[in-house]
Amino acid sequence: MSIIKVCEASDCNKRFIQTHPRRRYCSPKCAEREKRRRYVKKRISLGLCVQCGKPMDYPTSPHKNKTSPLYCSACQDYFRKRYLEKKKQQKTKK
Ligand SMILES: [Zn+2]
Ligand SMILES: [Zn+2]
Repeated sequence: MSIIKVCEASDCNKRFIQTHPRRRYCSPKCAEREKRRRYVKKRISLGLCVQCGKPMDYPTSPHKNKTSPLYCSACQDYFRKRYLEKKKQQKTKK
């Protein structure tokens, strides 16, 4: 007997045939995404950098309406560099 289940990934909701009683997602991609989402949540609640899991060295925002940064300064630096690299590459392409 096959059971039709709805994927538990919050941004998917696809239907799939449950081939294993513990299967909760339509694809390994959805499982991975949800796994990441869970540890991101955990890291945020522990005040750790979402990317590298190290304690946050970035000052938390004094503004209450602003969300505190998710990444430590090293990771933010890395992301900024990568973003700038990408931008540069796009420019040279055109
Ligand atoms: Zn899915
Ligand atoms: Zn980090």
